[in-house]
Amino acid sequence: MEFKVAVVPGDGVGPDVVAEGVRALQAAGRKFGHKFTLQETVIGGQAVKKYGSSLPKETLDICAWSDAILFGSVGEAKEDFYATIRPGGGLAGLRKHFELFCNLRPIWVYPALINVTPLKPEVIRDTNYLVIRYITGGIVYGKPRGLSKTKKGRRAVNTIRFAEEEAEKALRTAFEIARSRRKKLTLVNHSNVLEIGKLWRQVAVELAPEYADVELEHQYSDNCAHGLIHHPRHYDVVIFEDMAQAGMVNDEGANIMGSMGMPPSGELCPNVGKSVADGLLHCFGLYQSIHGTAPDIAGQGIANPIATILSVAMMLRYSFNLPREAAAIDAAVGRVLDKGYRTVDIMEPGKTRVSTREIGELIAAEVEKGT
Ligand code: ATP
Repeated sequence: MEFKVAVVPGDGVGPDVVAEGVRALQAAGRKFGHKFTLQETVIGGQAVKKYGSSLPKETLDICAWSDAILFGSVGEAKEDFYATIRPGGGLAGLRKHFELFCNLRPIWVYPALINVTPLKPEVIRDTNYLVIRYITGGIVYGKPRGLSKTKKGRRAVNTIRFAEEEAEKALRTAFEIARSRRKKLTLVNHSNVLEIGKLWRQVAVELAPEYADVELEHQYSDNCAHGLIHHPRHYDVVIFEDMAQAGMVNDEGANIMGSMGMPPSGELCPNVGKSVADGLLHCFGLYQSIHGTAPDIAGQGIANPIATILSVAMMLRYSFNLPREAAAIDAAVGRVLDKGYRTVDIMEPGKTRVSTREIGELIAAEVEKGT
């Protein structure tokens, strides 16, 4: 089969890790007989320098041409948060333009890395959960917003606003995904104190009878942040309406997987029609690691590209409906880790330290070799 991929490396460590994501994608293409046509484009700081905009029309056109976007990271080490054109704004614009409302962030444990994390192996062993968050609404996009000066000093305002249909499409996606996994859905919010939480909870309770085979539980975000570290095996699919709170537990998840360089992420626009399960396949999406620009390690050849390589596997699974190819990449990463190859962030005594490119080449070779 043939697919078109927009490659958007962005700033900081993005180009380092995206190069290895592309290598894994092309290896899967050779192994399974698919053709991936790539077109690279700019975003963020690079785009501001070249076009005076963090998300120029040229970039949007290439993304619109593609079947999926492979993304690095955006932002600058010393970004001026008061500037009108901020490099980091490019990603929010891209999400909104393509209505990529549904962010999927899976966390699982590769047995080879069970001792790398700061958590006890018996706590994290066999952990496998998926965090879903709504990323094109809520506080990041809500209006009115802004900073102002008054006689009594400065003021700031942000707004959280959700429509029932937004909550419904995200929750239906979450129920469907839970149905295809261990059939458990945890809805996380503050329905005790916030109206937004009450809305999401009401919608979830109303939808639950349609998904009677899925167990629905409610948790406040503080309980969930505790539980994901204390008893992570309890969780299967976890959905947040609050982007920022979900962001915090996602970085917690990096500790379970071993490093910020491990967890992948996909941002999709499922076609929530009659069957969300079908809508999740072949849907347009943007795939990137959960980490940001990591300016402290950018361009040094030491970043761990596995999060981006696993994001490529998510692209194959969700946007191209190629589950076998996706599983081949996930497994190839496992075999390279089993053989003891490590980037510095997941290094352990007695293992072989390799560079960003070397681990990318080892994984690509394993993808082509197969089991
Ligand atoms: P941003 O503001 O763009 O989010 P950041 O540096 O604040 O950037 P992250 O990019 O998420 O946040 O990185 C946090 C830390 O995790 C980095 O300082 C880096 O040391 C580590 N890290 C992030 N990505 C990787 C990676 N791919 N490999 C190894 N370490 C990483």
